[in-house]
Amino acid sequence: IKKHGNVFLPILIEDGKRIKYPPFHCPLEHTGHIHIEQDVDGIVRSVYHTLIVDNITIPSITSALYEFITGKSFKRERINTDQTTKIKDKILQLDRMRINYVGGHGSFDSVSFIDVIDGIYPPSFFKNRIALIGLSATGTFDFMLTPFLKDRLGMTGVEVHANILNTLILDNAIIDIQVWLRWLIAIVIGMGCFIIFMMIDEKRAAYIGLLFIVSIMAISYFLFTRLNLWSAPAIYPIIIFIIFITSYICKFDDAVKLLQETYLALESKLRWKLSEREGFHSRKGILSIFTKKGIYMQAKILTEIGRQLSFEKELSDRALMSDIQGVLIFDNKGNNIIVNDFALDIFKAIHVETTSMDGFLYKIVDHLMEKTDYETIKRTIFEENRVTYTLAINGKKKRFYKIDFSSFDVNDVSYILLLITDITRVKELELLKSHIISVVSHELKSPMTSIQGFSEILSKNLSGKMQNFAAIINRESERLVRFLNTFLDITRIEEGRQPLRIESINLINLVQEVAHALKPLGDASKIYIHTELPQSIENIMADKDLIKQCIFNLGENAIKYSPPERDVIIRLGDEKDNIKIDVIDHGYGIKEEDLGRIFDKFFRSTSEYTKNIKGSGLGLTFVKEAIELQGGKLTFTSKYGEGSTFSIIFPK
Ligand code: ADP
Repeated sequence: IKKHGNVFLPILIEDGKRIKYPPFHCPLEHTGHIHIEQDVDGIVRSVYHTLIVDNITIPSITSALYEFITGKSFKRERINTDQTTKIKDKILQLDRMRINYVGGHGSFDSVSFIDVIDGIYPPSFFKNRIALIGLSATGTFDFMLTPFLKDRLGMTGVEVHANILNTLILDNAIIDIQVWLRWLIAIVIGMGCFIIFMMIDEKRAAYIGLLFIVSIMAISYFLFTRLNLWSAPAIYPIIIFIIFITSYICKFDDAVKLLQETYLALESKLRWKLSEREGFHSRKGILSIFTKKGIYMQAKILTEIGRQLSFEKELSDRALMSDIQGVLIFDNKGNNIIVNDFALDIFKAIHVETTSMDGFLYKIVDHLMEKTDYETIKRTIFEENRVTYTLAINGKKKRFYKIDFSSFDVNDVSYILLLITDITRVKELELLKSHIISVVSHELKSPMTSIQGFSEILSKNLSGKMQNFAAIINRESERLVRFLNTFLDITRIEEGRQPLRIESINLINLVQEVAHALKPLGDASKIYIHTELPQSIENIMADKDLIKQCIFNLGENAIKYSPPERDVIIRLGDEKDNIKIDVIDHGYGIKEEDLGRIFDKFFRSTSEYTKNIKGSGLGLTFVKEAIELQGGKLTFTSKYGEGSTFSIIFPK
């Protein structure tokens, strides 16, 4: 050893602190400790290159060798004096290095010492080589566990040192990623996962979580094998798993709360009280686990609600889908969602499609008794909540159906419901009744006209009391003839027999004429008739006599239903698309409860003011039908005790 010089010998530390140097002559810088550190699992992964014992710094033999071979100095950690005093009786270990093993047992050339002594390996064999000499005989317990341990072949201490020296020379020690950095990465991954998991459903969250775990493992593997960076990746899958469970619990909590809110919203709609009610009003979400019957209760309430809803469904099916009535429902996009056989049979027979609301309305207008068109019916349905039309179907036997349109909302979505009722029987009776009355009216009209004519002659030729009687007969018969005429006019319109002479009419002259004709009536009741007319107005297409009669009738009513000394105004107006004739009075007005019925045949108000005023209840029916026959509209507004305005509207 003395002769050769380039020899390094180990130092032994006995009893934890007594340092024993080699017994041979050996310079101090050619010594070092050969201690290697086992982890808790017994595997040798690291070495401390510097030990401090009793204030004496002892390098590892490999770091000393490294300095000698490479000529570089090994950078050792510095410690302050405080630390040295603290560890007085202990060994301080510094400069930990993770060994980057080349492989398992046998990775380095090894030769037997006997063979060297026997001269099998001449000195030239060792030229420019570093030879580590160690004992590997069985029974020496020099048997180290390393990460490359396989086939139960451990590594001798000398081999471990060869790996340590190799790591030093190649400068490829495995670097631990710092703990704080690891935790920072874990927290970032955790937060990111939480946000993502909360946004997506559980199944996707599971897939994405798995993908994250696989990616992290792959990245860790890459860092470890290619860049010698060790990040102890177990923490990441654990964090991802915990976050997955946490987000699952949060979502579960939200779901239970939603369920509980739905229960509350449903409660008022249920027909029967819930038998299972415990926890019904709870809004604790997943904390309901801690209520008396636990979260299981929520499921029981749901079952109970489900049972009640099945009943409701059965009930509505029976009510709606029966063959008593036709049912058709369109959703807010105009698609048909429900149609029963009753409705389907009717509309199939007249080739009206029911799949879409537009298609349906487009075709149905041709079959309605009311005069309307596609645009009008569509607008009416959406503007008014409830409208009724009458459907007439010509077949072997004429049939009539009432179609009630109504809209309803469920969960902020509106639906249009159509109920179709067969009213053939009612219509038949109505027609029969009208027929009988019109026959009777016809039969009465000629004798009544004679009575009226002759009583007039009599009243002119008789004198005294007799003249009076004749005058009464004449007045009453005249009233009756007027009644019969109005009634027959209406019947004519309804039966489509009213001849129309449509021409271009200037309403300014016409209104003036009517106002003039009304004057004597007005004078008799001390009512002054005003007209409000524009300078000029577009002509309209209508039947002159018929429209004149209508305005006259409205004016007559306005005078009749006003106390003396009030005004009646007939106003002609040009609106954007329409021409409008308003007949305005400041008379008794119409009681609110009568508003919906004044166009009904024979309807007469029971109002205190007007009950003694004579009339037939047919005037307005006639006006409405006559105006509609010409393509116009009759509307009115009225305030009881203040007056009324009746408006005839003609589209330009
Ligand atoms: P009649 O006038 O012959 O009774 P109408 O059909 O003309 O029949 O009118 C029906 C009812 O409507 C009347 O009985 C009356 O109560 C009410 N009415 C009509 N016009 C007016 C009006 N201008 N002011 C107040 N009430 C009216």
